Amino acid sequence: MGDSGGAGRGPFRRVLLKISGDAFCRQEGTGLEMAEVRAIARQIKAARASGAEMAVVVGGGNILRGAQLSQAGVQRATADYMGMLATVVNALALQDALEKIDVATRCLTAIEMQRVAEPYIRRRCIRHLEKGRVCILAGGTGNPFLTTDTSAALRAAEIGAEVLLKATKVDGVYDKDPREHPDARRFESLTYLDVLNRQLKVMDMTAISLCMETGLPILVFNLKVEGNIEKAVRGDRIGTLIGAG
Ligand code: UDP
Repeated sequence: MGDSGGAGRGPFRRVLLKISGDAFCRQEGTGLEMAEVRAIARQIKAARASGAEMAVVVGGGNILRGAQLSQAGVQRATADYMGMLATVVNALALQDALEKIDVATRCLTAIEMQRVAEPYIRRRCIRHLEKGRVCILAGGTGNPFLTTDTSAALRAAEIGAEVLLKATKVDGVYDKDPREHPDARRFESLTYLDVLNRQLKVMDMTAISLCMETGLPILVFNLKVEGNIEKAVRGDRIGTLIGAG
């Protein structure tokens, strides 16, 4: 578990930012809290202004999670499609908040709904990024039984992002839960295998495996600290960097 030093820390030319749905609501809450969405939008604007091209994958867990709904009796695939639709609701909220502060955006969905957003087409997404637009990628991968973390890993590889910025509510990966253990230690860096073998709860295994296969570094950092998205994009030493080691 060596410290990989500054390698892979940026500054980055193109990033993929993954924001979970629970960043869009109040702590331990559900649904949409526009004040939270606006705060994220302001951070994205500042990060974009630093020059990096930005694609954002949004989750939907603040609205619903397929696995949970299937426990209530809804067929899993159907519940997952419902979850994917929930991510579109969040994407539109973020798009609105970004546009209100004059950030050019495009929303692209993995499930086609052309009245609402463009279909996700890789080359088109890249073109938007080159033109400086923030691309909000919604609808997950478009396939059930997966998560938006996997979608983030997939899209990052497809569009040639240099890093997957995994925004969370804690400032990195710890050896034990820092809320319960005051002596918990934050890792400066980890390898993909460390994460898989220790079953550290960073992202699901499919997502980590995909990052490992494509050699995509992951930076886990705290989104709720104002300015952290910009710092992550600039390559400041925040959070935990996961890579090949
Ligand atoms: N989902 C899916 N396939 C995907 C991405 C998402 O089926 O490629 C569904 C799944 O039911 C998931 C829900 O969409 O629970 C919301 O996504 P996720 O749980 O990843 O959101 P987050 O936890 O990031 O808010």
